[in-house]
Amino acid sequence: MPHEILIGLGGNLSSKAGGPVETLKAALRQLQDRGLTLKAVSRAYRTAPVPPSGQPDFVNAAATFETTLSPGECLGVLQAVETALGRQRGERWSARTLDLDLLAAGDIVAPDMATWRHLAYEADPMTVHTPLVLPHPRLHVRGFVLMPLQDIAPGWRHPVTGETVTEMAAACEKAGGFEGVQPIGALLGAGASL
Ligand code: ADP
Ligand code: MG
Repeated sequence: MPHEILIGLGGNLSSKAGGPVETLKAALRQLQDRGLTLKAVSRAYRTAPVPPSGQPDFVNAAATFETTLSPGECLGVLQAVETALGRQRGERWSARTLDLDLLAAGDIVAPDMATWRHLAYEADPMTVHTPLVLPHPRLHVRGFVLMPLQDIAPGWRHPVTGETVTEMAAACEKAGGFEGVQPIGALLGAGASL
């Protein structure tokens, strides 16, 4: 049975497709070519780098897809598209042409509830957990993820906390998490074909 996945897209360096907006569009096309069916795409947002640094602003967006691929297979697809569009794996939070995160796959919690809670709330946020973590352990605190998700999946409910995207976004905005995140227009125009 096909199920819904949420994907976060971001980039702040030009790729062979062009600037970050063109790169995100190319990524959406390539994801479609590799077994994901696009359902909805958010607006594009301009985002100041986190933590603050001299690197260029990011362009961020989110999209929902349907797929029959497993979450692990989806992550493989995301990493293949990052590589195809010139992502060099470097320092954490460094400038990059393309970052694709699997934000969620329906209501799956991985690797398990206790590990998820540890990674999201207790582990050093610098820790990178290479095996898949779902939902993405920083989804609920990132304005540049929650603002785009509000465009396309406001009612999606976090399977650990039970909060909707609308509720998480309100809490994030209250905590100042929307500062430095500005909508810059549609990523795909109405009726645009991929
Ligand atoms: P970040 O997105 O935090 O800047 P990276 O894109 O370099 O970091 O990803 C670091 C690692 O996180 C990847 O090797 C990937 O295997 C792992 N990872 C774990 N869970 C996820 C997820 N839900 N989405 C994307 N990557 C994930
Ligand atoms: Mg990533």
